[in-house]
Amino acid sequence: MSEDSEPGAGALPESEPLDFIREIVAADLKAGRHQTVVTRFPPEPNGYLHIGHAKSICLNFGIAREFGGRCHLRFDDTNPLKEEQEYIDAIQEDVRWLGFDWGEHLYHASDYFETLYEWALHLIRAGKAYVDDLSADEIREHRGTLTEPGRDSPHRRRSIEENLDLFQRMRKGEFPDGSRVLRAKIDMASGNINLRDPVLYRILHASHPRTGGAWCIYPTYDYAHGQSDAIEGITHSICTLEFEDHRPLYDWLVENLPVPSRPRQYEFARLNLSYTALSKRFLLRLVNEGRVRSWDDPRMPTISGIRRRGFPPGAIREFAGMIGVAKRESTVDYAMLEHCVRDELNRTAQRRMAVLRPLKLVVTNYPAGQTEEFDAVNNPEDPSAGTRKVPFSRELFIESDDFMEDPPKKFYRLAPGREVRLRYAYLITCQELVKNERGEIVELRCTYDPATRGGSAPDGRSPKATLHWVSAAHAVTGEVRIYGHLFTRPDPGADGDLLADLNPRSEEVLTGCRLEPALGELPVGTRVQFERLGYFCVDADTKGSGRPVFNRTVTLRDSWAKIQAKGK
Ligand code: ATP
Ligand code: MG
Repeated sequence: MSEDSEPGAGALPESEPLDFIREIVAADLKAGRHQTVVTRFPPEPNGYLHIGHAKSICLNFGIAREFGGRCHLRFDDTNPLKEEQEYIDAIQEDVRWLGFDWGEHLYHASDYFETLYEWALHLIRAGKAYVDDLSADEIREHRGTLTEPGRDSPHRRRSIEENLDLFQRMRKGEFPDGSRVLRAKIDMASGNINLRDPVLYRILHASHPRTGGAWCIYPTYDYAHGQSDAIEGITHSICTLEFEDHRPLYDWLVENLPVPSRPRQYEFARLNLSYTALSKRFLLRLVNEGRVRSWDDPRMPTISGIRRRGFPPGAIREFAGMIGVAKRESTVDYAMLEHCVRDELNRTAQRRMAVLRPLKLVVTNYPAGQTEEFDAVNNPEDPSAGTRKVPFSRELFIESDDFMEDPPKKFYRLAPGREVRLRYAYLITCQELVKNERGEIVELRCTYDPATRGGSAPDGRSPKATLHWVSAAHAVTGEVRIYGHLFTRPDPGADGDLLADLNPRSEEVLTGCRLEPALGELPVGTRVQFERLGYFCVDADTKGSGRPVFNRTVTLRDSWAKIQAKGK
């Protein structure tokens, strides 16, 4: 079908200009500032990865691949209160599924806790860090604002000896949570609030997924991150723009510590996607409140969700290449992501016939009990995909919205007295309709023209519409889940409340769908095109349920829907 074939996006040609980060990497390698490029993807294991993370993964692993370097997977596991093994496992699965491999370079910030502690002592001895007894609220009050400088804590002038003693006792567990912190001693009057004596360590009597009860003080992100980069020899530490104001602190720490290498931080604009919320915290809330089935609900923008929905990993990589990498915030249209998905599935997904809202059609002049088979093309874009047999008989199902008793102009499908083509089979004409006592159409009675076998008439007449169908006696009954956007508006949360913008009709479950026999026993995850309807993927709920369950991945472009929309 031509409806869904779109111009291929293709891979970026060699001549395509590099984005600003790749330009920096290329220049650094050319100038000999680095022998090899080393990047990292540093998720905090406090939730599942989403499509925004996919952008970062494709960037970091992509650069390593393109420039012959390496990319580390590093868990930024500095907050044991929110981190779980489930997330650690899911993140690894998702990065692999996207097609990337960290080889032996799997690391954790917690691998460096002992070194980070030693370096904190180093700062204290150099008079560049101190233990503060102010509460979190008091520290915030003292910090000042964008227009007012901060004020010194009364503990800022503590002696080095006292600081060493207190910090060591913090580690030993002598103090309760929140009673003390270690702060860098930089500049309470700095124009950059991040430099107003940022917190480096806090007390948390909590068990850690990897270090267990070994620690009751944990480093902050700002302290752990750059030092982990330096320990691993990261050359280009690439992160999102919200860390731009943290870069002076990143540099200050690297300069003031005996680190083995000098990494640099570069910031790019995060991915924002229309109709989508990309915040782990909010996605966790949707799961916890039961507003979606799970983290991998096909409506979720998580990598596991879009995998279950049927998005292929190649389409995500293609998308990441198309949106590029820039310094300025913008919002990408969700339709661009769908375009990438259609583009790949059009080339790779086999075609099948499925009727989602069945209407019975009896071919009155076709012999009862007779069956014949037609050869159906599996993928017109890929001759090597071959053909399959599709059974035909006297009783069929067609899509109920392919028939109208009183059709408006431009509705070319079946109507009383009208002839249409049944895909691969015959031309049929609707002679009669049967209604139930409520006046609903329950059956169409049609005749077929035996001379049109295969779908073409010897006299050359050609109906405007070709319908998909399934043979009633041969059909498999299944469930199909139709998904729309999770939100009702392209900018969810713009009025301040994401939950208020949730789409109450984002999932529609259709049971009693009739599928051609070849759709009966496909492995979970198989992606197919239902002719004229869209791309669909076998859901994991199929297993052991005795019926196939399909998720709609994405629609085809539907010209009728467009005309309808315009007419409204
Ligand atoms: P969230 O905002 O969803 O809670 P996060 O930034 O807290 O995400 P991390 O685990 O810290 O989650 O992110 C790991 C990496 O992914 C970071 O380098 C971060 O900059 C990057 N990242 C997170 N969200 C996006 C996004 N929307 N677009 C691009 N990169 C992102
Ligand atoms: Mg983060």
